[in-house]
Amino acid sequence: MKYYKKSLGQNFLIDKNIIRKITSIVKVRNQNIIEIGPGKGAITCEILKLKPKTLSVIEKDPSLAKELKKKFLKKKNVFIYNQDILNFNIEKICKKNSIVFGNLPYNISSQILIKILNFKNWPPNIKDVIFMFQKELGEKIIGKFTSKHYGRLSILANFRLFIINNFLVSPNCFFPKPKITSMVIHFKPKKDLSHKIRKIYNLEKVTNILFSNKRKMINKNIKKIISDDKIKKIFNLNLKSRPAEIKPEIYYKITELLEQK
Ligand code: SAH
Repeated sequence: MKYYKKSLGQNFLIDKNIIRKITSIVKVRNQNIIEIGPGKGAITCEILKLKPKTLSVIEKDPSLAKELKKKFLKKKNVFIYNQDILNFNIEKICKKNSIVFGNLPYNISSQILIKILNFKNWPPNIKDVIFMFQKELGEKIIGKFTSKHYGRLSILANFRLFIINNFLVSPNCFFPKPKITSMVIHFKPKKDLSHKIRKIYNLEKVTNILFSNKRKMINKNIKKIISDDKIKKIFNLNLKSRPAEIKPEIYYKITELLEQK
């Protein structure tokens, strides 16, 4: 049945080669796998063929979740949660060294990434994250310092995740066919973090304020975040810089100072 809900960002993968390319990025055999937004099970079925130890999937659409439950009724190592990922405690179901897959619903994909970045316990019980985004968003996530896509999202992602690899996926690989190209990104959580940030929310705040105008020098905006005394503590900071001219580490340092009483 060719039905889909646009409001839930449903674009189902139909290209077998791409599905295999995604599931062969890491070793699945005997691993604990989590999948966000399994839909009709394109990636899910391929993962199962590779014999994971367990597979937990979170799907918001009740009719799709029901179909999946029916389909995998006999599989004792498959767990289906009919829930909204944004209200779901992923951390709680993360078994040791979990691998997280997701051809994410595009409208909430950055929120899902931030949800992973926000895990209470770090390093998390996750060893790999493989997510598919819209290409434009993907470029912002992987955008390195000095590149044209460097900005808020890459600063956030880079705080806790390594970007291992990425590749593009053509609209032809989906039904319904989206207008845009997609990008798969393979991340690995960083074990040792360079800075102690208590709440990713504060890093979001810092980057939002400083990037509120890309062409403006940061000298005025930074005063909205921390005191002059604290600003002086930041080694090598040129207040005449524009936000894209500042390294990620400095954003982390500013956030640390913001969190200090
Ligand atoms: N993985 C499938 C489907 C991708 S489309 C495939 O590649 O073919 C995105 C999926 O995420 C859809 O099944 C949609 O129903 C589901 N989804 C959308 N919003 C969600 C949310 N908030 N929580 C969990 N799943 C969601």
